[in-house]
Amino acid sequence: MKSFQYLKKIDRTIDYDNNDRALFYYLMRVEPTVALCIACGACTATCSAGNFSTLDLHKIMLSIRRGEKVYIAKEITQCVLCGKCQLVCPKNVNTRGVILQIMSFLQSSQL
Ligand code: SF4
Ligand code: SF4
Repeated sequence: MKSFQYLKKIDRTIDYDNNDRALFYYLMRVEPTVALCIACGACTATCSAGNFSTLDLHKIMLSIRRGEKVYIAKEITQCVLCGKCQLVCPKNVNTRGVILQIMSFLQSSQL
């Protein structure tokens, strides 16, 4: 006989008030085009590295606002800085510049 039970739902609520948004504020200062992102996903769709790895720039752009630095630090190293994402971005986000600044921020914060 099949047994039924309730599963605890994983909480996906984003606590914007208590997130560490230091990276977002840093990027707003050094690469303000980061604020133009509308999370459309075009960058991820065109990313060559994304075809061979878990790199997802669209998710990284969302994670910047959510303060998920550990996830970003893990994924960003897979970028080969080709700049294709920048060519397709409808909002002209300087994605390559954003990525380079993220790398520099993470290096200085020893994450
Ligand atoms: S293509 Fe541009 S606007 Fe769209 S998710 Fe990527 S960075 Fe954001
Ligand atoms: S610069 Fe990085 S994120 Fe953008 S398309 Fe190239 S490998 Fe992908």
